[in-house]
Amino acid sequence: MKLGIIGGGGAAVALLAALTRDRLPNLDITVFEPAKNVGPGRAYLPDSDIALLNVSAERMSVLPDAPGHFLEWVKERGGLNGRSVSPAAFLPRRLFGEYLADVAAEITDRLAGRGKSVRTVGSPVIRLRQGPVGFHALTEDGRHFDGLDRVVLCVGIGGPVDVYRLARTPGYINDSYPLSAQLAAIQHEAHVLVLGTGLTAVDTVLFLLENGHRGGITMASRNGLLPTVRTSATAPELRHLSHAAVRAALAVDPVMTGERLLALLDRELREAGTGLSRACAEAVPGESVARRLRRQLQQARDGGALWQPVIIEAMHESVELIWHAMPDAERRRFLTRWHRKFVSLLSPMPQQTAVRLQTAADAGQLRVVRGVRGIRPGESPLPAFLASTGAGDIAADIVVNTTRPAAAAIPEAAIPLVESLVKVGVARRHPLGGVDVARYTNRVLAADGSENRNLFALGHLTAGTHYYTSSMLIIGRQARVVADQLLRHS
Ligand SMILES: Cc1cc2nc3c(=O)[nH]c(=O)nc-3n(C[C@H](O)[C@H](O)[C@H](O)COP(=O)(O)OP(=O)(O)OC[C@H]3O[C@@H](n4cnc5c(N)ncnc54)[C@H](O)[C@@H]3O)c2cc1C
Repeated sequence: MKLGIIGGGGAAVALLAALTRDRLPNLDITVFEPAKNVGPGRAYLPDSDIALLNVSAERMSVLPDAPGHFLEWVKERGGLNGRSVSPAAFLPRRLFGEYLADVAAEITDRLAGRGKSVRTVGSPVIRLRQGPVGFHALTEDGRHFDGLDRVVLCVGIGGPVDVYRLARTPGYINDSYPLSAQLAAIQHEAHVLVLGTGLTAVDTVLFLLENGHRGGITMASRNGLLPTVRTSATAPELRHLSHAAVRAALAVDPVMTGERLLALLDRELREAGTGLSRACAEAVPGESVARRLRRQLQQARDGGALWQPVIIEAMHESVELIWHAMPDAERRRFLTRWHRKFVSLLSPMPQQTAVRLQTAADAGQLRVVRGVRGIRPGESPLPAFLASTGAGDIAADIVVNTTRPAAAAIPEAAIPLVESLVKVGVARRHPLGGVDVARYTNRVLAADGSENRNLFALGHLTAGTHYYTSSMLIIGRQARVVADQLLRHS
């Protein structure tokens, strides 16, 4: 059987790992990936070691049933830069990218030893057609690939969106990753405006500070909310939001509303000695950045903010069940009212990062503003940019964009590919974004709603159907589901 995998990031490697876990399948595999290597994708590119994973080493793996796989790999290679690593450590993202590339290379070698190939094509697929003898893929560089029996779309998440159409303005950096390539040339005295206040914005500021930046740095977003500081506390065993508990609750009443979810979460948190109001209080803007960081650091070191690991744990265990029990209107309400706050609560920053940011805020070098309404090029010759914000107009020499793409947005590099499928009814867009897939199989749904047995999607492209796909653990689970179906026919 000929298998085409479109996209060669973490999802593709998780699929390769799931396909070869127990035995070597009878598959000829073609991976389409425009980047130099299969493995790192967008999230785990070679970069500065300050860009850290947001999941501890012991829980990052391409194999969901072998959560220590990455940690073992790190240990086998003598740790991080020659130093041993603790299972609870948050390691550099580039290291996970090296692991992914290594896993992909090792699988390729094993398959080659059996006369099977994993071929890599270094150009994006811009059109995919399904015919009587399989799929036909056309790549951007004009090559044609015929006779693919099955195809899995693993195109991932796109980069930030150029909201204010500044792409052609000198001094504007639309994407801060990889940090070491995108930001190293910024003049140390420049006033930098970082558009966004999420984890990518935090990485950006940290890199600038570590790189010796001396000029002012303003982080600006609509709500001006930084991620919270990661607590040292670990989650107690879940009682109301574990997979089993949610399943039992849905057996009694199958409909999950936003209010019911919040009530369950509140009960879970109260029994853990905290409460939902404590979490919600962190999503209220207004506190000065230095004060917020100082307060949260203290709390995090004391093992407070217990709501944080509870929400993260509940998300990984039960998000799938909860999302599918929500009626459409509830999902939309959730996306407009809570999604951004929820994601921000789910993605805390490391304590040592908070210390660095707090030092810069105390020294008056860093500030955070909210109420961004627009950014425009300034009058020649200076300043280069003027941002209108809730704190008035702010002048900046450099603007670094770190805004997140919308939930379930299709990455730009995959739009022609998805369009080519949608246009002829082989796929349909999900009303909440991405492509529509069947809940239990990840088979792509055709325009008439039928499941395509030969076309699958993994990861962010399926976020309209599954909601939260932004984690290797969840992508790994999806990969196993797809691999099981592919193996049945190989
Ligand atoms: C900055 C960042 C940090 C993250 N950190 C973590 C973390 O610490 N822990 C965690 O569990 N999750 C993290 N995530 C979530 C992350 O999305 C997943 O863990 C995982 O890396 C996603 O893998 P992917 O293969 O789906 O997507 P990607 O890594 O985006 O890979 C998709 C690949 O598809 C290719 N592609 C796109 N279009 C086409 C086309 N038309 N033809 C061919 N190829 C195409 C792209 O070039 C890309 O290499 C992070 C995400 C980001 C963006």
